[in-house]
Amino acid sequence: MAKDCVFCKIIGGEIKSDFLYQDDKVVAFRDINPKAPTHILVIPREHIASLVDTTAKHERLLGHMANVACALAKSEKVEKGGYRLIMNAGSDSGQEVSHIHLHLLGGHKLAPLG
Ligand code: AMP
Ligand code: ZN
Repeated sequence: MAKDCVFCKIIGGEIKSDFLYQDDKVVAFRDINPKAPTHILVIPREHIASLVDTTAKHERLLGHMANVACALAKSEKVEKGGYRLIMNAGSDSGQEVSHIHLHLLGGHKLAPLG
């Protein structure tokens, strides 16, 4: 747990959040400022500041985060319409919270990336 990390505080229960999913590796909760009708964040319990800091040893964890996000897309019923998974990494991406998180966005037509 990293001091002053908002997501570590959510995991530790210091900041209240309702978990849509949790296991020994990850938790998922709704984004406080949703950019789509369904906007969920999947985060690891381990504090990892950025995707930039990950190595091959995180391969399973990153894959698990993606699997959990896809399962949530199904339970949120956005699977049919389609959805987007995004992980920002570093300042150029606009990453605001320095604890890796996978955004699940869906529930309406998303703006094209390009
Ligand atoms: P990023 O720009 O990729 O770092 O995204 C950080 C996301 O975390 C933003 O979409 C914020 O709205 C979201 N966020 C920040 N604080 C909280 C919080 N306490 N609970 C839920 N989502 C949060
Ligand atoms: Zn953290």
